[in-house]
Amino acid sequence: MEAIKGIGVSPGIAIGRAWVQEEHDRRVAFRTVESRHVPSEIQRIDNAITKSKEDISRLRNRVQRRGDSAAAAIFDFHLELLSDSNLIDPIRGDIERESVVAEYAVAENFGKLADRLREMGSEMFAQKAIDVLDLERRVLTHLGGSGPDGLGDRKGAIVVIAHELTPSRAVELHRARIVAFATDGGGQTGHTSIVARALAMPAVVGCTSATQDIADGDTVIVDGDGGLVIVRPDDALLARYQGLAREAEQRRTALRSDAGQPSLTRDSTAITLLGNIEFPDEISSIEDNGGTGVGLYRTEFMFLTSETAPTEEDQFEAYRKAIELSRGRPLTIRTLDLGADKWTQEHLTEAERNPFLGLRSIRYCLAHPEMFKTQLRALLRASAHGPIRIMLPLVTHVMELRQTKMMLNDLSEEFEEEGIAFDRNIPLGIMVETPAAALMARAFAHEAAFLSIGTNDLVQYTLAVDRGNERVANLYNAANPAVLMLIKSVVRTARHVGIDVSVCGEIAGQTLFVPLLIGMGLRTLSMSPSQIPAVKRVVRGLDIEHCESLARRVGSFESDRQVLSCLRDELRRIDPEALAGAEHG
Ligand code: PEP
Ligand code: MG
Repeated sequence: MEAIKGIGVSPGIAIGRAWVQEEHDRRVAFRTVESRHVPSEIQRIDNAITKSKEDISRLRNRVQRRGDSAAAAIFDFHLELLSDSNLIDPIRGDIERESVVAEYAVAENFGKLADRLREMGSEMFAQKAIDVLDLERRVLTHLGGSGPDGLGDRKGAIVVIAHELTPSRAVELHRARIVAFATDGGGQTGHTSIVARALAMPAVVGCTSATQDIADGDTVIVDGDGGLVIVRPDDALLARYQGLAREAEQRRTALRSDAGQPSLTRDSTAITLLGNIEFPDEISSIEDNGGTGVGLYRTEFMFLTSETAPTEEDQFEAYRKAIELSRGRPLTIRTLDLGADKWTQEHLTEAERNPFLGLRSIRYCLAHPEMFKTQLRALLRASAHGPIRIMLPLVTHVMELRQTKMMLNDLSEEFEEEGIAFDRNIPLGIMVETPAAALMARAFAHEAAFLSIGTNDLVQYTLAVDRGNERVANLYNAANPAVLMLIKSVVRTARHVGIDVSVCGEIAGQTLFVPLLIGMGLRTLSMSPSQIPAVKRVVRGLDIEHCESLARRVGSFESDRQVLSCLRDELRRIDPEALAGAEHG
């Protein structure tokens, strides 16, 4: 038995058999087989190529039906490559001559072809090199198991153990009914962690060496509350965790049964609790959990979960669906927040050296106006079907807001000329997630319709701590007085100017921070839908004057330790059970 300590990022307990993932991004290790196994390696590679061709033909036909001939041409190129004897024969040759495993022969030969294409020096060939690597991943996946999820004939409850997981892979795993995951890397507010919470999938990240310490098929317990992964538990511990899982389920059911209560403090101040979503389908879970709308719709997840860039029509359909499901309740749609750990690196010939400080979010959109306009057009068209607000991510400069306004104005004129229906008064707001935006909040407040504080990024940029890096996870702390000072000043400015302000970063859903945020003057919090019931229960125990005095007290502290200890005392007083949850989370 062994217990691995990590960071619990998505609550709940899951018990299952480990599925340790091969890391395709790292080079495949050189391995050989005995010569009598060479024919079966050749058979494996032939099967993997056939299955890859079947996948691609299916995808090709799907995009062709949608009239996307550019995407269809990409898949045609993939199909040609898989039938090209200049690529496939050397793979078979390496296995026959050197008895290498099929995976190694694939990685070697696809890798060499990608290198040759890159060396040709043109953008077109560089793009083809990316296609080749994409194809390599697909063939390797088919070698690893069967089907694109690689699940093969694994049955029962499965826990994925991986070095790193991308947000889109987490979604795929959820669809394949994986019960939990644990990763070597990652941090509390990395996007994969956020996705795990959205999917209510227990997860522990930052385990450092889980992929080495856990063997495929081991029984593992993932304790997402305690941030623990227990490997090969004895019977007593297994029974204890099964009991804890039952109790946690009962607590969740009890909290959810109060979900319909009004979100009012004891002195009758209304606090609006909204949900953060990645997909329109999650809107019903906001309502089930007692929330009253969407405070943040992360539209870029559509890009992360589809094989080709979504078209204007795809995007329009998704927004229209979100509007329909919202039935007139608040719906704030954030424009594409691609970049950093999301999407763009895989589509660049050379990855950025410092992607979190690179071409991401609004910067990426403004640098790719065609892509941005496609989204804005889809949003404008959808706005004819019901109220929405548009929100821009990672703004650092007022010019970014003004440029977007100009693009929206140009599109509006086009729509008017073409007689296309749309809402002429869509509120356009910004996320405050950099110190620059926080310090310049007054300038933004005069030009934006609303501000929403994204503390996940605000913490990382204020403290210079990568939010997804487990090595510095102990320095990533929203209770740092520098961060709190910025939040407080943004809220004060917004209230002074008279525009709407909210928090949509993860702290909005952490019960520990709720009394402080309300004491600072916030009246709208947006969080993962599953966090709404616990937050509402805390809200209902609060008294505004008391929260304000708490905020004043916290404002005088110089260390995060003092802040946290004061917040813990406060929560213990209001709701001891919530404190127990917060201590684990
Ligand atoms: C944030 O940064 O706080 C935020 C809500 O945006 P995301 O987590 O998607 O970066
Ligand atoms: Mg952000």
